[in-house]
Amino acid sequence: MRKIKGIALAALLAALIVPAINSAEAVDATYASKKAKIVNTNYNNIVLNEQEQKLDKKLQDMKQAFAKAYPIKVYDANVIFDPKVWNDDLYKFFMTLPKGADLHLHGGAMMNPIEYIDLYASYDNVYVYTQYVDEKGPRKQPALLRCFKSKDDVEKGYVNLKEGLANGSVDKNWIFDLLSCKTTPSDIRMWDYFEDISKKRIQGQTQEMRLNYYITAFESYCKRNVNHLEIQEVFWDNLEDSRKSVLAMREAYYAVKKKYPDFTMRVIPSCVKLPNAFTVEKTQKAFDNAIILSNEILDEFDPQNPKPFITGLNLLAEEDLSRDLDQYAEVMHNTLKKKPSLKVELHAGESLLMDNDDVVDAYLLKANRLGHAINLYRYPKAIDNMKKSNVSISLCPVSNNILGYVYDLRMHPGVEYMRRGLSVHLASDDPLKEEHEGLVDDFFMATIAWDLNLADIKMLAKNSLKNSFLTKKEKQAAISAWENKWNSFVEESLKK
Ligand SMILES: [Zn+2]
Repeated sequence: MRKIKGIALAALLAALIVPAINSAEAVDATYASKKAKIVNTNYNNIVLNEQEQKLDKKLQDMKQAFAKAYPIKVYDANVIFDPKVWNDDLYKFFMTLPKGADLHLHGGAMMNPIEYIDLYASYDNVYVYTQYVDEKGPRKQPALLRCFKSKDDVEKGYVNLKEGLANGSVDKNWIFDLLSCKTTPSDIRMWDYFEDISKKRIQGQTQEMRLNYYITAFESYCKRNVNHLEIQEVFWDNLEDSRKSVLAMREAYYAVKKKYPDFTMRVIPSCVKLPNAFTVEKTQKAFDNAIILSNEILDEFDPQNPKPFITGLNLLAEEDLSRDLDQYAEVMHNTLKKKPSLKVELHAGESLLMDNDDVVDAYLLKANRLGHAINLYRYPKAIDNMKKSNVSISLCPVSNNILGYVYDLRMHPGVEYMRRGLSVHLASDDPLKEEHEGLVDDFFMATIAWDLNLADIKMLAKNSLKNSFLTKKEKQAAISAWENKWNSFVEESLKK
């Protein structure tokens, strides 16, 4: 034993030193792999092919270039109003990206404000009230944009919009600012300002102008590669008024479908939840009208193959001033009993109140989709249930930021819902008031604020069609048309 003492000592020393180094490396390796496993678990089962991986690399480079050229401290959606951003490669990438569907969109506010002004400037009889003062609010002064039947009817203070823009006496950007939330007087509550924009929009338009509004809006989405729309149209309790607006939308849809055969759209009758605006009883009446019209008005673009045109229901308005959703339990139950094929999306969780639990009500009222669900993170059991029953979420990041629910978009919980495996998609809500290019802006802001990659973006776009209220057969056709578009987009983008 003594003889080998030196060797034994050396071996002992080696055993002490060498494993120490190895185990440090091993710990490092185990730690790193454990960490990577956690960091990279996001329940996105989309695997990118070789081409897509190349494009993802390009996307990451564009994100870095944007961050360098445009350092942002707070991820505020107002950046999308900066013309410098519109020329950035990353923004242009989202202009052409095949985005699938916009499933949460309000009928009166569907397009880019510049397109809206241009549309009404194409008429000879639309006028603008040039003495309009934003701070006074729309209730205390004449309408900002108004249609007069003849020149003799034109009231004091109004200038012809077409002529005014041509001779420079009217500034398009001034109207843009008034029609959008881009600039908001500091002493006005954001939601009040937002609601008031509806009153600044065109007054006194004819049915034909209304039809052209829808056509322009639908084409605007098609041009930005959004192929399917589910439009929330406010239903009051007058059947004739609702019939008129659904028929106008269908006529516009047929006109646009001739030009863009892949395009589809559906109507989601929606009732206002504000106690001072509409009663629960009247909501039942409006939903009964929705059932009548859903049986009567179909998508008969292909007369041999009629399809449902009114496909769902919704309840809307500023949530913190509205009735709780549980007060609609009976109405929702009765309506779905009368017509079980109607699907439901409910606005829920768009709230700053700590005791707001509308997301739980929405789930219990059998919503197939939740609109916003900003505070859903407070109810983990609801998240589990929604995952199990495939309830999806229409996330509207730009709208949530503009309306003051999420101050910095990096902190928007939507990214967490997505990583947890809830089926989420992006939606534009009220582009005319809140955005520059509609759904483009939501993809753009979500990508920079949530650090998304191409697999995330692909999943969001595909989910929008999966979560739509189209029939199973229509969905399959829409997804396969979108996949073709996606593949061409990947190929084309790599050539640039
Ligand atoms: Zn909404």
